[in-house]
Formats: sequence, structure tokens, C-alpha cells
Amino acid sequence: MSEHHFKFCTDYHCRLGILEAVAPGLRRITANNPGPLTFRGTGTYIIGQHNVALIDPGPDDPAHIAAIVNELGDEKITHILVTHTHRDHSAGTARLQQFCDAPSYAMGTHTALQRPSALPADMDAAGDTNFSPDVVLHDNQSIRGDGWQLLCLHTPGHASNHAAFAEAAHNRVFVGDLVMGWSTPVLLPPDGHLQDYLSSLDRLLARKDSVYWPTHGGPVEKPHTLVKHLIQHRKQRTGSVLAAVANGHRTLASIVEAGYPDLSANLKPAAMRSTLASVIFLIEQGQLKANLSDGLNLICQPA
Ligand SMILES: [Zn+2]
Repeated sequence: MSEHHFKFCTDYHCRLGILEAVAPGLRRITANNPGPLTFRGTGTYIIGQHNVALIDPGPDDPAHIAAIVNELGDEKITHILVTHTHRDHSAGTARLQQFCDAPSYAMGTHTALQRPSALPADMDAAGDTNFSPDVVLHDNQSIRGDGWQLLCLHTPGHASNHAAFAEAAHNRVFVGDLVMGWSTPVLLPPDGHLQDYLSSLDRLLARKDSVYWPTHGGPVEKPHTLVKHLIQHRKQRTGSVLAAVANGHRTLASIVEAGYPDLSANLKPAAMRSTLASVIFLIEQGQLKANLSDGLNLICQPA
């Protein structure tokens, strides 16, 4: 699959605050937090009927939580599953738990599974450090409820504690922010890590799921085509970072400028951090040198 033949799909529409039936045994309610990184908004998934599991409560937005509670009526939430501790996924959990007694399930707190990093401590700004799961999941753990069963897949890279939830009965995976159909996810170091991300994508490729349901955007119907594209896309990016450094671009700002001359200003901070993820990958591969304690001000040198 070459870059030229793949097209992200941005033709996805949903109604905010309304529980929509999107597939057998699956409903979805979308929060009002659209943006360059959240697309149409966070999609909260409801699995099952009457006694339901919920995946990703979304942001700490009273209107979204009230919509979930109102739309579910007298149905009972028995499990709150959280894919990862970014605020647009996990931060609404505490507010939701004011309305139900379901425990939350996730792979750990924001920092629990992070690798040690030489980056400055204040770089990890996207994380929801308030969230702590009631039940700490482990990789390959099965979670069962009333008429549904999910398998927890530890899939770090976008976030160190990222979990995807596979539902074998429907051959589908709730992939959180690991993969989405409309854009490539950002990796924000130190919690985001490119080598981990590529390993998680390989893990998806080794499976035979027929559809992915990302938290942001519509279902991915040809999942392996997309995953292969994402892998190739990351390889192209690391290749262009290496080439930029070889051409004398030594700062992250200069490398971003070289790679994306037309990038809009609101995407530049994410692009700087995403490029840092490529730089860290190349340092780990022995292809670049830089002092990570300089954070976004680091200077790259060819190894
Ligand atoms: Zn995220």
C-alpha cells in the first residue's frame, strides 16, 4: 500500500449528545469537544443492553455526562472502561460515577506504565493525572458482563497505559486513539513513544479483526490497510527527520518547518512534539544524537 493510494476519510457525521445505534450490540454518544486532535468529538461507546459497559466517559463535561445518564434512562452501567488517561477520554469518569456505582477499569494511572525519560518533567501536559482506575487491568485480561465479553490489549505508543478492547463475538476492536480513520494519532513524548506505537500496530496486524471502532471518528472497515499505511507513514516521517538533520536542520522547529512548510499555527505545538517522538526513536536506533533534557529546545546531531 503506497502513500499515494491511501486516503483518510473525513466524511463522518454524528449527532452530539444523542445515543446512536451504530452496529449490532453497540451504541455511541458523542461529546461536544470537536477540534484538530479530537475530530468531531469524543465518542463514548455503550456495549450491551440493560446492563451495559461504557468505554471512555470522555471529557469532564457536565453536559456530556448528563446526556449519557439521560439517554441510558433506567439501563444500568456495570463497567466503565477507559482506553487511556488523556483528558478527553478519562476525565469524565469521576463525574459519571456520581450517577452510577460502576467501577472504572484501566491499565493504570497516567504514570504507572511510563518508561523513565530524560525529558524535562513538565513536558507531559496531555495526561489526566487525577484518574486512578478502581480495577487495574493487565494485558490479555478478559472482562465479562451481561451478554458481552472483551479482551484487554495493552497497546502503548499513543499513551503508555493505552488499552484496546477486542470483542471477539463481533470481530471488532475498540481501539481508542491507537488508530483512527481520519488522521494519524499524535505521539506526545515522554508518554507517547514511537517504537511502542509501531509494536502495537504490529500487534493489530497479527490479529484478524474485521472492524475497528476508534474513540474519534467513524469505524475503520479495512483495518489492516489503514494499519499498514500508518506504519509506512511513520517510517517516512522518521526518514524525513533524518534527512532534515543531514541537511543542517538541527532544532525541532527547523525540522518541522522543513517537513511541513504549510502547517497551520494551531497544529505546530503538536507537530513539534510528534517530531520529538521521531527524534527519540532515531536516538534509540543509534541514528541521531541529542540531549533530551533540553526538551523541545534540543539540538539534533547525526550519530
Ligand atoms: Zn489520546
